[in-house]
Amino acid sequence: MLLLENVKKSYTEPDGSPLPILEIPRFEVAAGEQMVLLGESGSGKSTLLHVIAGISRADSGRVVLDGVDVEKLSEAARDRFRAACLGYVFQTFNLLSGFTALENVLLGMTFARGRRDLPRAKQLLERVGLARRATHRPQQLSVGEQQRVAVARALANRPRLLLADEPTANVDRGNQQQIIDLIRSTCREENVALVLVTHSLEVSEQFDRVEQLDRINRVTAAARAAAPAGGSP
Ligand code: ADP
Ligand code: MG
Repeated sequence: MLLLENVKKSYTEPDGSPLPILEIPRFEVAAGEQMVLLGESGSGKSTLLHVIAGISRADSGRVVLDGVDVEKLSEAARDRFRAACLGYVFQTFNLLSGFTALENVLLGMTFARGRRDLPRAKQLLERVGLARRATHRPQQLSVGEQQRVAVARALANRPRLLLADEPTANVDRGNQQQIIDLIRSTCREENVALVLVTHSLEVSEQFDRVEQLDRINRVTAAARAAAPAGGSP
């Protein structure tokens, strides 16, 4: 489903020097597989998800999604393909505040497929237990409910792969397990592969496959640490 080969990503420091973050010889996720990615803050977890999702681009290497080497597509085709193939759940939900729960789910579809599937959006909201909150805007929802809307939105296009970046970090404790259960069960029902970033041991120990980013990434913590601005101590 997902294959990364020799993926490198650096950022550029204000002084122009490169700051290497990722150098991943190989990383693979099978269709329908559910796995957890662990790593210290700053270890490059979000950067990796961004590279997979095309939010930012790798400097080099191959990102193969559903058998398609996305770097070989034209930019427009790449965006379309990714939008159809991937769902993303953000740590901070990223719902559009001017739109209702139902509209937020529908917007996930509009970008990818160019058409709306209202029955599908309603069914997803029902699936995440929010059928009776469909007309609420984000500020009229609890944080747990907002993240459930975000889960519904991420699945709106029937993606093959769901990327979830610390999806419970901003959710109150009581709702964390519910979000995890919802993500896992909906992915299982629709045969969506899942890459989930979390800090929570309680969450990670529920998964059969747990990978430390530092084990698959050749850039060491020392190399990631930028030289302090202003030079000597
Ligand atoms: P994680 O999600 O594991 O906490 P990130 O992938 O967000 O880590 O960041 C990895 C490292 O890259 C951090 O040290 C961060 O400061 C740096 N970084 C992230 N985004 C940028 C950027 N746009 N420009 C420069 N450095 C960045
Ligand atoms: Mg992060």
